[in-house]
Amino acid sequence: MPAAAAALSPSAFIDRLVAITGPRGVMTAEGDMAPYLEDWRKLYRGHALAVVRPASTDEVAAIVRLCAGAGVSVVPQGGNTGLVGGAVPDGDGRSILLQLGRMNRVRGIDPIDYSMVVEAGCVLEAVQGAARDAGRKFPLSLGAEGTAQIGGLIATNAGGIHVMRYGMMRDLVLGLEVVLPDGSVLSELTTLRKNNVGYDLKQLFIGAEGTLGIVTAASLKLFPPLRATRTIFFALPSLADGPRLLSLCREFTGDAVESFELIPRQGIDFATAHVPGTVDPLEGRPEWTVLTEISGRSDERLQEDLDHLVEAAFQAGLVTDGTIAQSEAQSKALWLLREAIVEGQRLAPGIQIKHDVSVQVSDMPGFVHAASEAVWRIHPDALINPFGHLGDGNIHFNVTLKAGSTADAVKGVSEIVYRIIDDFGGSISAEHGIGRLKAAAHAARCPKPRADLAARLRKAVDPKGIMNPSVFRPAR
Ligand SMILES: Cc1cc2nc3c(=O)[nH]c(=O)nc-3n(C[C@H](O)[C@H](O)[C@H](O)COP(=O)(O)OP(=O)(O)OC[C@H]3O[C@@H](n4cnc5c(N)ncnc54)[C@H](O)[C@@H]3O)c2cc1C
Repeated sequence: MPAAAAALSPSAFIDRLVAITGPRGVMTAEGDMAPYLEDWRKLYRGHALAVVRPASTDEVAAIVRLCAGAGVSVVPQGGNTGLVGGAVPDGDGRSILLQLGRMNRVRGIDPIDYSMVVEAGCVLEAVQGAARDAGRKFPLSLGAEGTAQIGGLIATNAGGIHVMRYGMMRDLVLGLEVVLPDGSVLSELTTLRKNNVGYDLKQLFIGAEGTLGIVTAASLKLFPPLRATRTIFFALPSLADGPRLLSLCREFTGDAVESFELIPRQGIDFATAHVPGTVDPLEGRPEWTVLTEISGRSDERLQEDLDHLVEAAFQAGLVTDGTIAQSEAQSKALWLLREAIVEGQRLAPGIQIKHDVSVQVSDMPGFVHAASEAVWRIHPDALINPFGHLGDGNIHFNVTLKAGSTADAVKGVSEIVYRIIDDFGGSISAEHGIGRLKAAAHAARCPKPRADLAARLRKAVDPKGIMNPSVFRPAR
């Protein structure tokens, strides 16, 4: 334990934790802690004094106060589905891992005001279900929704497949309850839509990846459920036609495009080769396809809009083929293909290198072309799989190198991709955050005024530096 904890031996510290949560809330045995100390992608494995699972905001506050006094750092964890290594401690064993999963109550739902208040440990799928039961929709949706928790989704400002219609988590949060690094509680669980009383403090914690405080509860925006939706799979003549097709879809449907996902041939091949139950929906093996979901006020109006859209898209030469799901089962099969790309690539032979990047939607074809050419110049046999949220200008530009490629080769590929992202004025982290994985790449390109202000802010909110200390900081 650090010097500040001189008055408290490790065993006395653990006793104090147990006094706060009861024995059920504290784990110290290596075997019990192990699943919490490795990240989803198995890139990081850490050590902790204890894994602590509080059941209330008061318990979180007491734990953080104890840690602040003892100089012990705190690493918050939700569903541990984060992809940048931010939810596991480093190897020094001087932190506690604070796991929020027991705080999973829906505190209230108001269908008239279209809002709900939930605790940080609620799993996203349960929040969607609770909203649905109340006749409302919580629109955030992503592949990890059966495991990711509201606190983690807020701390990473999660995106997913509906961002172009409803925004990211930042746009869906009305208020927050946060335990600050000194153990005090900032309680702003408002459901007001308009509230201009100076700084919008909740935004500080959204996307902060647990560096400024522990989110313990949130008030969230709800929406009316959709009356009619269609899932459509289009084949494009070329990637360059993707942004123009998106623009047409928005125009012909009154901007009712719920999602617009790019699926390249390589992604379909990964999915169908390795994930049972996935099928290639079109004949002719088109190189570029998109999966889009469009909503409408009624089946009849939607069908009318789609008839006009499809006719216009063919006439403009923006699509070569397509299929509209005729049932819930067909729609699910198309979405299964989209979601299976990640798993398919994971199971494919070779070394998988992932990038979560964004550029302007209209720049996407140019970026994909430039980055692919640059990677192929050095690795002619690399497989390139640029898929994902084209509607948001965010794709996962994933590259497979042959097995046995060196760590330098892997690093070199990411450097190429990020250099080209810089050329396009894009972002090296569109939705997964910085965590530990991207800390060095971020620091290398973060303008000094931004880096200085962020450091001053962090120091002001967390003067003892106990909150998730490895996140945003390049390893030395
Ligand atoms: C199959 C799959 C698909 C995915 N798809 C998407 C996608 O489409 N879009 C997207 O944005 N992400 C996606 N992700 C990434 C991941 O699901 C998100 O980053 C999610 O928001 C993480 O939530 P979590 O509860 O698992 O957080 P964790 O992984 O537990 O934590 C993530 C970060 O938040 C911090 N944190 C956790 N809880 C709290 C809290 N209560 N207070 C303060 N800080 C906290 C942690 O310290 C860590 O830094 C995907 C992941 C997988 C595995």
